[in-house]
Amino acid sequence: MSEVGAGLRFECTKCGKCCTSRGDYGYVYLNDREVADIARFLGLLPHEFRQRYTFLDEYGWTQVVLQDQCVFLGDDRASCQIYPVRPLQCRTFPFWRDLVEDGAWTPEARALCEGIGRGKLYQLEEVEPHMLAMEHAEDEE
Ligand code: SF4
Ligand code: SF4
Repeated sequence: MSEVGAGLRFECTKCGKCCTSRGDYGYVYLNDREVADIARFLGLLPHEFRQRYTFLDEYGWTQVVLQDQCVFLGDDRASCQIYPVRPLQCRTFPFWRDLVEDGAWTPEARALCEGIGRGKLYQLEEVEPHMLAMEHAEDEE
């Protein structure tokens, strides 16, 4: 159960855990615009990028290849090799609607990310744009 009104404290420690395991959230989805942006960043054509780094899941969504970790996680297991153009879901994590309840982090969120509960206290209004962006990610095609 979450603490009502406890607020959303978060500071990324750069532990890299969210690039290796997100429990039930262990998927990185890309829309067409993200595919184009990341492909350009890597000097690839979109179809080359798709072939090398992604697959289509059973629902037709494009996902980044993840085995034990995201294919873009650096050897230090902390840095993202496509950081400037990383997917929306990576940019907005952990400010996802499912990970917040009654204005506080859920226990699941705390288990996923060690940065939760540290650092800056965010107000719900501040993080609402992240949550909305995630909900409309597929509209950004
Ligand atoms: S799990 Fe949390 S603290 Fe660790 S890198 Fe990801 S966002 Fe940062
Ligand atoms: S794209 Fe980058 S930030 Fe996102 S999961 Fe992969 S390594 Fe982590």
